[in-house]
Amino acid sequence: MYDKKVLMRVDFNVPIKNGEILDDNRILQSLKTIEYAVDKGAKVILFSHLGRVKTEEDKQKNTLKPIADRLSILLKKEVLFIPETRGSLLETSIQGMQKGDVLLVENTRFEDIDGKKESNNDQDLGAYWASLGDIYINDAFGTLHRCHASNVGIASHLPNGIGFLVEKELQVFEKVLQKPERPFTVILGGSKVSDKIELIKHLVTVADYLLIGGGMAYTFIKAQGFSIGKSLLDEEHLSFCREMLQQYKDKIILPVDTTNTKALSENPSYRICSIKETKSEEIGADIGPETATLFIEYINKSKTIIWNGPVGAFETKPFDKGTKALAEALTHNQGTTIIGGGDTASAIIGFGYQNKMSHVSTGGGAALCLLEGQELKGIGVIEEA
Ligand code: AMP
Repeated sequence: MYDKKVLMRVDFNVPIKNGEILDDNRILQSLKTIEYAVDKGAKVILFSHLGRVKTEEDKQKNTLKPIADRLSILLKKEVLFIPETRGSLLETSIQGMQKGDVLLVENTRFEDIDGKKESNNDQDLGAYWASLGDIYINDAFGTLHRCHASNVGIASHLPNGIGFLVEKELQVFEKVLQKPERPFTVILGGSKVSDKIELIKHLVTVADYLLIGGGMAYTFIKAQGFSIGKSLLDEEHLSFCREMLQQYKDKIILPVDTTNTKALSENPSYRICSIKETKSEEIGADIGPETATLFIEYINKSKTIIWNGPVGAFETKPFDKGTKALAEALTHNQGTTIIGGGDTASAIIGFGYQNKMSHVSTGGGAALCLLEGQELKGIGVIEEA
């Protein structure tokens, strides 16, 4: 890598509020590959997206500048930030780089304003970015399920490989899905059944138990014949839930009680009841304590656990209780515990349990793809490194 210009796709898509980074986990996770390239004397040119960029206003909210500042602190060296995604400033700055220098290009999705060039993998854009370097390294696990100019586009023009983070993520999921130590339990939650149809279909065939909580559980509860009041309902998939329950009645474990409220607002009033007793005006916002105990029995006897989707509306207290109780049980499990990114990862990090899990994935959608048994579009063109 000595003296080479390494174009590196990283995932710096972190939550930022008023210019302040709320969770820098993804930046921390990308340090290993960046530091490796720096130590080898490469000139490291970093690309990342941040949020969605549809208007000029979105650009102000989604600049990578705060990330360049944080990265400089974490790397203990200056990171040159270029507030452009193309053009002479970017090109001359790259020409002026010395061995071991690090440069961060502005948010790749700024290219989406004019015809979604990044997100639709515009051929010219991929070729242009590729012309800026010698080697391409993809270490952005969080975007591997997408076919964008900054991953597939650049990779198709240059010698390329994956970084340490992507390598680790792929190994973890491959191992667990191909040869899980059993019992193998999957916890599924989140809001919609519709987003997780493929996931349920695939995992129910490979796992021993599927514990279903969160908003999506209420469609299953309705499919069992109980009233769910105003809880989240995915009417279209009621028959799918019924079929799953008939076919896999010993594998799918559903809540037995629920924490209900009349409104998901600050300081809500709530009551806990059996799933058979939800009133017409109530919303199921979290699993109840008996369900937590039941799910924890399965967690305790499992040797492999994968978790995708919080089991309650955890952002509003006290509806984080169920998610927290299960998370705590996972911290005591001696087996393999994998958190599948997205909201579940945010919840676990918020509880401070991230270091007590075997693996907290940095990619929600990408992890979901792997768990569905699908190929990742963004890795298709990557050669064996
Ligand atoms: P997803 O993106 O589908 O994994 O959903 C995550 C979201 O589901 C989080 O924002 C949670 O607040 C939400 N969620 C989980 N359980 C419930 C529930 N019972 N009612 C409403 N939203 C929920």
